[in-house]
Amino acid sequence: MRVLILGVGGVGAMAAWHLAQAGHEVIGLERHRLDHDRGSSYGDSRIVRRVYPDSLYTSLMADSYLLWEQLNALYRMRGQGTALFHACGGIYFGPKGDPRIAAAQAALEECGVAYDLWTAADRPSHFPALTLQDDEVAIHEPSMGFALASESVRFAASLALGFGATIREETRVAGIEEAGSGVSVALENGEKIRGDRLLIAAGAWTQPLLATLGTTIPLTVTRQTYVYFDPASHPEDFAVGRLPVWIDAAANAYGFPSLGMGRAGGVKLGLHDRGVASAPETVDRIVSGEDRESARRYARRRFEHLSDRVVYEKVCLYTNTPDEDFVIDTVPGLPAVLVVSACSGHGFKFTPLLGSIAASLLTDITVPYDLSRFHLSRFSADKSRL
Ligand SMILES: Cc1cc2nc3c(=O)[nH]c(=O)nc-3n(C[C@H](O)[C@H](O)[C@H](O)COP(=O)(O)OP(=O)(O)OC[C@H]3O[C@@H](n4cnc5c(N)ncnc54)[C@H](O)[C@@H]3O)c2cc1C
Repeated sequence: MRVLILGVGGVGAMAAWHLAQAGHEVIGLERHRLDHDRGSSYGDSRIVRRVYPDSLYTSLMADSYLLWEQLNALYRMRGQGTALFHACGGIYFGPKGDPRIAAAQAALEECGVAYDLWTAADRPSHFPALTLQDDEVAIHEPSMGFALASESVRFAASLALGFGATIREETRVAGIEEAGSGVSVALENGEKIRGDRLLIAAGAWTQPLLATLGTTIPLTVTRQTYVYFDPASHPEDFAVGRLPVWIDAAANAYGFPSLGMGRAGGVKLGLHDRGVASAPETVDRIVSGEDRESARRYARRRFEHLSDRVVYEKVCLYTNTPDEDFVIDTVPGLPAVLVVSACSGHGFKFTPLLGSIAASLLTDITVPYDLSRFHLSRFSADKSRL
């Protein structure tokens, strides 16, 4: 089968790998350069976890973990480095009795995932850099960790290329139309490319593309920032293995240990609350004093040894659905076109699995998952049709 992939970010690159590996002819079309910083998958790190206040995501992550392990093995085998995904351990914390903590524990138990509970008393031995209040509890998931984001996208794309895929960079798809039982895309330069199937994996650009196909769904693109602060003292307490990856469920904040890697030992911290609604072409890509100050205020509460000095900062985009569930469905009226959006700021950890699911659905292979929560009909009053 000839499969076109519109958008080679996290989802598109992983789908290209799976499809090309299965022997399909794959043409990836990417409007910018591979691993550009204008979408959602750029950067050095993303949290990978099974601890979720929702057992659907906890259960899906079982297979995504297997794929991360496969990617790690291939990465090592090809001499690229030690790992793309590092299971350094992580905590998901909040006030005792918080419904999100209870739901996350229930999901882990339902899915048989090992975890333990930590309190402020465990700080000296387990997370010396981070202040937990006495009325808070942390779910510690040993298999939680981080994936190297940009590196994973580049590596998946290189695997796809190795299996014979073509990836055309700086190639914007301007139009999509049905062509017999398949599909045809028009590039900006007027060139048309025909495929048997098309995957739309366009991240923050999904909404306008679907609108041209007569499908309107309530996706909101938001401007999100993250900041790296320098440790003022005790840098060893911020190292991988000492500071777990962490999520503050109540404050909607998250962060990483210091990964080094050109960020001068800085410690990454982000606020997950939705930022200003934006569009990828016009979003303000400069981190403002106010963005920095919000991150600083949070950092002061949790990290007594982190300085106010910013060593790196970045603006990134979330593509949000109202229910924060992903989109995985064929486009109404176009059975040869599948749309997959790893939405709402939590999709990177799923990209190997979403790529595999997309590859299966595009080539008529049934997947062993109930994907009904990801269907487009959920946005419609008439649930059978958009
Ligand atoms: C600050 C931040 C922190 C995050 N933290 C986490 C985390 O810790 N854990 C986690 O699991 N997830 C996290 N996420 C979410 C995760 O990164 C995203 O869900 C994921 O990267 C989305 O991948 P994507 O392939 O859908 O989009 P993208 O990677 O943006 O890819 C879409 C691609 O489509 C291309 N494109 C669009 N239109 C066209 C066109 N017309 N023609 C050709 N190409 C086109 C774009 O150029 C782009 O490359 C975070 C996101 C952000 C922004």
